[in-house]
Amino acid sequence: MNTSSYPTWLEINLSAIEANTHYFIELTRTPLMGVIKANAYGFGSVEVGKTLLQAGAEWLAVARYAEAQTLREAGITAPILVFGLTMPEEVDAAIANDITLSMYSFEIANIYAQRTKAIGKPLKVHLKVDTGLGRLGVYADEVLSLARFALEKGKIEIDGIYSHLAMVDEGDFPETEHQTVLFSNVVQALSENGIRPRWIHLAGSSGAIYAPATRFNLVRSGCALLGIAPRNTAPIPKELRRVLSWKAHLASCKMIPMGCGVGYGHAYVTSNEEIIGVLPIGYSDGFRRLPGNEVIIDGKKVPVVGKMCMDMAMVRLPKIYPMGTEAVIIGSQGKATIDLEDLANRWKIGEVDVVSNISLRVPRVYTRD
Ligand SMILES: *Cc1c(COP(=O)(O)O)cnc(C)c1O
Repeated sequence: MNTSSYPTWLEINLSAIEANTHYFIELTRTPLMGVIKANAYGFGSVEVGKTLLQAGAEWLAVARYAEAQTLREAGITAPILVFGLTMPEEVDAAIANDITLSMYSFEIANIYAQRTKAIGKPLKVHLKVDTGLGRLGVYADEVLSLARFALEKGKIEIDGIYSHLAMVDEGDFPETEHQTVLFSNVVQALSENGIRPRWIHLAGSSGAIYAPATRFNLVRSGCALLGIAPRNTAPIPKELRRVLSWKAHLASCKMIPMGCGVGYGHAYVTSNEEIIGVLPIGYSDGFRRLPGNEVIIDGKKVPVVGKMCMDMAMVRLPKIYPMGTEAVIIGSQGKATIDLEDLANRWKIGEVDVVSNISLRVPRVYTRD
């Protein structure tokens, strides 16, 4: 790994992703769908997708058709499910690339039916049920008629049925059990009518970990495999390893006299002669312009001062360091650690918000133990 040529970069430890995947499969004893939407939450969908499949995932899932096509173009042949809206113009390509689409309404089923008839080839779908999230999906009492509609109107193969939990990321709430029972009943009713999709799935990471009854015969997981806490209300389980570090090289370091403004608006004014370093990271990289930011330099935490810029941030240092000195934004250096959880708490957002908002211009570098 050569990071010496980057002002700032992310390090993604593929060994940690593998270890998390093995742990997750061992824990759930259920086939795994690796969720790598949004460029694998910013970690890089092709590299992460290949790693998950090698570590034992059977499926991959993304939010949009274009994300699935990227995986196919990279040579990934595993089954891929698209969770979200696939535009009518994209359906033919989905069929050609053997991508499985979500069928969550009569409107979309009608489009799928028309396209399969027009080109004479079948489309695989997973039927999406809304058991209480209030997002995509038909209600339980419409599932049978949607399934029949799809089977009659076009060459649609119902390969799976799924739903998504609303409350399990927040803690143990009765809604999770309600959704699980409702979903079971729907699957049962379909089966009694001769429709038995092969894949039945309800859980994301937190359901699979904290509510075993939600596992059915496939579990979907993104954050747990990427070392991101699945629950907003609990620290990451100790068996899961962190995957991501964020680093930067010091751009400059100089003594600034007492009483001088630092940065735009002179939002910070030196109260002594101070040593101020400049880091090549700013809010456009996904480093948020909020109070309390710190980074690690020379094994010690140092404060970000002044108003963060688009591409740069200033830090107050205890001594002069040379240009190129390594700073850590997320991760460890010496005895100091800034954990992903620290940033999430500092910015009052979820860990997944922190990582998925790190700009694409920050290079991703893949490491192993
Ligand atoms: C994002 C997503 C997941 C994965 O959730 P994690 O909490 O990251 O495991 C699973 N299912 C659906 C429908 C999703 O949108």
